[in-house]
Amino acid sequence: ESLLTYALCVEEIARGWMSVSGIINTHFIVAYMLKQHGTQEQKDYFLPKMAAGEIRGAFSMSEPALGSDVSSITSKGVRDGDDFLLTGQKMWLTNGGTSSLVAVLCRTDEGLSPKEAAAKPHRSMTTFLVEKEPGFGEVRPGLTIPGKIDKMGYKGVDTTELIMDGLRVPADRVLGGATGRGFYQMMDGVEVGRVNVAARGCGV
Ligand SMILES: Cc1cc2nc3c(=O)[nH]c(=O)nc-3n(C[C@H](O)[C@H](O)[C@H](O)COP(=O)(O)OP(=O)(O)OC[C@H]3O[C@@H](n4cnc5c(N)ncnc54)[C@H](O)[C@@H]3O)c2cc1C
Repeated sequence: ESLLTYALCVEEIARGWMSVSGIINTHFIVAYMLKQHGTQEQKDYFLPKMAAGEIRGAFSMSEPALGSDVSSITSKGVRDGDDFLLTGQKMWLTNGGTSSLVAVLCRTDEGLSPKEAAAKPHRSMTTFLVEKEPGFGEVRPGLTIPGKIDKMGYKGVDTTELIMDGLRVPADRVLGGATGRGFYQMMDGVEVGRVNVAARGCGV
């Protein structure tokens, strides 16, 4: 339950193999976001499977043109009946290949005029819970994980791109059931991620 317990566990794991703490961190962030912000149905469906290790989580804010500046993302979700159609390119997904659930941040701009959306970009974003097959290539219609990014270190973690081209996601897979909250949900998630990263440093 407590972040202190989590930090102590992560410290020990990172002492042995830091990459493992990275795999756990990303999974933990997605589970935390579901616990804090998910609908009851989303919690009941995903959390037991995530606790059992049947589903591994990834989360995706970054894009080729931005990392820190999350409010500038360009990936888009457009409503189409009871679904959303997602389009855009994402970058640097920890667990991108091994995961079967990705929390993807997109711009939705629902209920905002273009002027409002441009002035307050953090209010026009939505987190989508995207289920997929683990692996590489077209893992679901409209969703491609091209392959692992070759890194200088931290090689026990798979880090990937994610390409959406008309990816169809049902509206009940909007985290929390309402659009426009994605930026806050993601910032809440990366906050607990920072506890992991600090504990990792101590472990190493
Ligand atoms: C191995 C790895 C795994 C990752 N996993 C994920 C993941 O799972 N999901 C995900 O969404 N992203 C992930 N990322 C992306 C990561 O979140 C970004 O790399 C990070 O946000 C930094 O963005 P950037 O690389 O574009 O650097 P930039 O944002 O371009 O920053 C470059 C430098 O400028 C500084 N800087 C930036 N903005 C300012 C400012 N306003 N004022 C002063 N200084 C500033 C930064 O501190 C930094 O030193 C991962 C990255 C790596 C390398």
